[in-house]
Amino acid sequence: MSTTTPARDLAPVVASRLAAEPHLFIDGERREARSGRTRPVLDPGTGEPIATTACAGAADVDDAVAAAARAFDPASEWRRMTPLERGRVLTRIGEAIYARADSFAELEVLDAGKVRGAARAIDVEFAARTFLYYGGWPSKIQGTTVPVSHPGIHVRTEREPVGVAGAITAWNFPLLLCAWKMAPALAAGCPVVFKPSEETPLSALWLAELAVEAGLPPGVLNVVPGYGDEAGQALVAHAGVRKLSFTGSTAVGRRIARDASDLLKRVTLELGGKSANIIFGDADLDAAVAGSAGGIFWHSGQTCSAPSRLFVQRDIHDEVVDKLLAEAAALSIGHGLDAGVDFGPLVNERQVERVRGYVDRAATDGAKVHQAGELPTGGGFFYPPTVIAGATDDMECAREEIFGPVVVVLPFDDAEEAARRANASDYGLAAGLWTGSVATEHAMTRALRAGTVYVNGWGLTDPAAPFGGFAQSGYGRDLGPDSLDGYLETKSVWTFHG
Ligand code: NDP
Repeated sequence: MSTTTPARDLAPVVASRLAAEPHLFIDGERREARSGRTRPVLDPGTGEPIATTACAGAADVDDAVAAAARAFDPASEWRRMTPLERGRVLTRIGEAIYARADSFAELEVLDAGKVRGAARAIDVEFAARTFLYYGGWPSKIQGTTVPVSHPGIHVRTEREPVGVAGAITAWNFPLLLCAWKMAPALAAGCPVVFKPSEETPLSALWLAELAVEAGLPPGVLNVVPGYGDEAGQALVAHAGVRKLSFTGSTAVGRRIARDASDLLKRVTLELGGKSANIIFGDADLDAAVAGSAGGIFWHSGQTCSAPSRLFVQRDIHDEVVDKLLAEAAALSIGHGLDAGVDFGPLVNERQVERVRGYVDRAATDGAKVHQAGELPTGGGFFYPPTVIAGATDDMECAREEIFGPVVVVLPFDDAEEAARRANASDYGLAAGLWTGSVATEHAMTRALRAGTVYVNGWGLTDPAAPFGGFAQSGYGRDLGPDSLDGYLETKSVWTFHG
């Protein structure tokens, strides 16, 4: 049995970040919230407070947007930077993350309940790569010459930053989501006001300071941790913000889309999911089960693209359930800083209760609930890996996003049925299939309605590959060139040559 132990040797820089006075980061400097309001930051692995964060209100958001607007003035240092210089700053931010990779990973474990190895290999690695990728873009954003049918007239397009961008994110990938929002905005030339989840503000605040050290002029990047219904709403409603990029739940995303439409803001929404993952009888079964278990149990199921609906061809259904349970039982559950741990806590007590409620109701609805693994003693917000069998597609557990380590296994008979049932969801973030047949792969990848489709694997992202959803999973894309488009206006310039 593992125990959670509160006293740990932390990297000095991490200890100093935790001990810092509560602050926002506005106009290149730390500031208290104008209201003086703060809240504790808890370590999900122990349930104990580890730091105190400032909570921004509407007045702080005003300050941050005003700083960003100054940074966007045509005569500002930021606007006068050449594309290559802007790209170099972004690259330096990426390198600054790499140079502190282990410490960032430690901070993410403490703040968000990550597991150290995965935090280093995924959150930190891909945050750094995102800045490196977008560091190459400023010098490649270009317009076109337009072949209009007017003699003596020359038309070209130019691409310009939309202006101040606001970003609001969830707690599950604090540093990574921060990079997904900041890097393309900055590459396009937009200053940013960033509101991290109030649960997990620490890495964004650190990154903003490092960005200034890397050469980003003050005011270009501002971080305003605070509650969604105060700081978040103030950012959404602010007339000085021209673009909003949001990652979070579908319910909040809908509200943001409604509120932002009053001012006709550009909006990108990366929302929830209930991703279908389909194992065909001709798949490499061990690889399929290991990949599917990894997909749903990684970060304790708190991933938007989690493969939480697992369709399994009927003749291998029971074998897959047994193998999944064996994978779950082999997980070492505990605090993410402890050696050997590969399954950490949920973010807070509320989330544990939410997941427990879904699982209890699944049992009441008649499904069979299997749980595995030994939870640590000594505090922390833990919930065991859970496999639900015997459910039907219309049950709550098979329809709603649980956002925990819970997979619902559903048998199917043929490919047409699998595609139809996989698509019968309000969401469309990701989907996957495991098969040895090229024909099945081609037919299914065409049929599945999702922003990302994985074949014989699950869960990778890359800064070059667009990421986002269909239907209630949102619109617009993070990453890749597509994300840049959301931060750019196209201007047609007509020159009359007489
Ligand atoms: P929420 O939607 O509750 O919160 C997301 C962010 O929005 C938080 O920063 C929150 O602030 C803020 N917020 C809340 N209310 C408002 C409001 N009225 N106006 C403006 N901002 C507001 O999501 P969770 O944090 O609970 O995250 C889980 C959800 O995020 C899941 O549905 C998951 O699928 C989704 N997600 C989607 C991803 C994707 O790329 N598609 C990736 C990761 C997660 P506060 O600090 O108060 O919570």
